[in-house]
Amino acid sequence: MQSMVSEKNVLVIGGGLAGLTAALHLNKSGMEVTVVERHGYPRHKVCGEYVSNEVLPYFDWLGINFQALSPSNLRTLRYTTLSGRVLESQLPLGGFGLSRYAMDELLYRVLLSRGVKVVFDAVREVSYHNERFSVTTASGSIFRAAVVIGAFGKLSALSKKGKNVARASSPAVAVKAHYRYDGDFPAEEVSLHNFSGGYCGVSMVENHQLNICYLADYASFKKSGNIKTFQQNVLKGNRFLKEVLERSTIIGEGPVSVGQLSFGRQPAVQDHMLMIGDTAGLIHPLCGNGMAMAVGSAKVSCELIVAFLRDGLLRRKEMESRYQKAWNEAFGNRMWAARMLSALGKSTVLQGLAMESLGRFPLLFKKMIESTHGKPISIKGL
Ligand SMILES: Cc1cc2nc3c(=O)[nH]c(=O)nc-3n(C[C@H](O)[C@H](O)[C@H](O)COP(=O)(O)OP(=O)(O)OC[C@H]3O[C@@H](n4cnc5c(N)ncnc54)[C@H](O)[C@@H]3O)c2cc1C
Repeated sequence: MQSMVSEKNVLVIGGGLAGLTAALHLNKSGMEVTVVERHGYPRHKVCGEYVSNEVLPYFDWLGINFQALSPSNLRTLRYTTLSGRVLESQLPLGGFGLSRYAMDELLYRVLLSRGVKVVFDAVREVSYHNERFSVTTASGSIFRAAVVIGAFGKLSALSKKGKNVARASSPAVAVKAHYRYDGDFPAEEVSLHNFSGGYCGVSMVENHQLNICYLADYASFKKSGNIKTFQQNVLKGNRFLKEVLERSTIIGEGPVSVGQLSFGRQPAVQDHMLMIGDTAGLIHPLCGNGMAMAVGSAKVSCELIVAFLRDGLLRRKEMESRYQKAWNEAFGNRMWAARMLSALGKSTVLQGLAMESLGRFPLLFKKMIESTHGKPISIKGL
């Protein structure tokens, strides 16, 4: 079957983990690709920075070696509640801890070394007509492309314009910083500490830095007025978290934060753009698996783009419907499991009951965690 498209270039809007990964894939497949990113690198991002090892075979194929950045090696999960209960489990497949500051910068540098064009500008408008996209940026540049990938994350003004975007019913706020820990923090552990109105993840990243990242219900955060008071009055209500915070000293530029977060899925195809990463759906961070989904969706979308644009094996309509279907199959169940887990985190009664059962049946806890993770991401033929 012959593709109708004459020029075969791809434009990626957003150079976060999903967009950079997609650009690496398309470049490796011999395609012309440009990334438009509104900010520079390196940059701190609000993220727990635990990456599931399911991404490793794919990054291997892409020729990326994160070991060069000395990430931590994460194996176990510890979940604690306000009432002092503790659950422990192995992490499915294990993972590694690496700051987004280092990770996104590495991917960007590799793209540059492979000759991929990365433009620093903010996309304002995207239109599609006669098999061609026209993409206008804040500086007035206009890019034309045969395929556009939307990888602009959860907070872009672009996604807010989308007609299908759900409004946050109970928006959340998230805060992250890196710390030096006074003592021996268990280097293989990801801990999740529940507090009133949210939860806090604690784990090591590279260079013995401790990532402390929490997500809180906006209403309860607002009552405290600022980060310092909130941490003192609310986070320290969990005695395990209190100990971590009291032994940790902030390093670097201080906390970064984001507000107005809402979780859930969006259509994976909007106005003919293939949406990847958080643009297609933000999984509750309690599952710590958004990055693996960002990488996995980049891979699935790029395989279909290559089949459509380079090989002429699919028509655009087929590419789009196959992508939506593949996204649902790969991530639909995870999004559901994540919603269940986050509901647990919110209700003290539910949590008490669940902790009771999970404490008695530890395999159940392991199964719950597994259901929010996927299989190793591999490329056809690997
Ligand atoms: C509190 C919290 C903790 C988390 N912890 C974890 C964790 O431990 N493990 C995990 O796997 N996941 C975690 N996640 C999820 C993870 O951070 C995201 O799933 C991941 O960052 C998604 O990557 P992305 O590339 O889709 O989006 P992003 O990394 O947000 O990238 C989007 C990019 O698009 C750019 N952009 C936006 N608009 C435009 C525009 N108009 N023009 C040009 N560029 C634009 C932005 O500048 C940005 O660089 C967490 C999330 C939160 C909120």
